[in-house]
Amino acid sequence: MATMGVLVLLAVLTVLSAAPRDAGPPAGLACLPTWYAGEVTHRADGGWGFVIDGGTFIPWRASVKAAPFDGGADFEEGEEVVDLESIYKVPYVAGPIVTLDATDAGAIDDPGRVRIEQLFLTTYGQSRDEVFDHLGKVRFFGLRYPFHELAAEPLRRVVARLEPAVKENPKLKPFLTNIGGTFIWRKIARSKNLSTHAFGIAIDINVDRAHYWRWQKRGEPLKWQNKIPQVVVDAFEAEGFIWGGRWLHYDTMHFEYRPELLSDSCRGLPEMVRDGGVDAGR
Ligand SMILES: [Zn+2]
Repeated sequence: MATMGVLVLLAVLTVLSAAPRDAGPPAGLACLPTWYAGEVTHRADGGWGFVIDGGTFIPWRASVKAAPFDGGADFEEGEEVVDLESIYKVPYVAGPIVTLDATDAGAIDDPGRVRIEQLFLTTYGQSRDEVFDHLGKVRFFGLRYPFHELAAEPLRRVVARLEPAVKENPKLKPFLTNIGGTFIWRKIARSKNLSTHAFGIAIDINVDRAHYWRWQKRGEPLKWQNKIPQVVVDAFEAEGFIWGGRWLHYDTMHFEYRPELLSDSCRGLPEMVRDGGVDAGR
């Protein structure tokens, strides 16, 4: 009888965990092959998911969820994530810069900080050497910087958006020169996960004009600060880059290529007609 009970329980769990195939893949999954190497698939035992190189299956929805960020002193970036749905759990909202308040209960999560490292490894490179082999060069306000070839074109389009803005308002230029850097093979500070800089898909603009939560005194409550102008943020977001200034654990110099978070199709919205927007391709 006990076996029967287990079987019934398993059947119920299977029904709960596996969305019916007929309904089609969730929008946030269906859009992923636009930018990431792999295939959307459905498995009887795991439901919808993404198969990456080597046959590894990453489920859309797993029974074990990533622990939510608590925003406290033990905050660690890049915690273990087990399903793809978690990427979208905290919606990334582009547009006017919002002053974030640590005491606001709704502001404890950092949109985009949930990352599936396997997706980056299989798309951008499994090792320093492999990523290095796929770096292009992007001219960014006077100097050329290494950037992953899959994200280089979007970064060039950011520059194309910013150049006329700088011409019109030369005060913007110091934010975009003397920049912090792009590609560096390293882990996130105090974390076991690779930084998006390791994949050549992130850029830190002028560090001297930026604010970073780790520069606060230890133990002090988070106090979001920012000087990066709206027009700079807009140019990056329009091309599929998320901004570290949207995080309560702010890192306002930091922009990283995460088109899935800014794509209307990933959100299940009808694609808007835009000139060279993030849905234009990888
Ligand atoms: Zn950075």
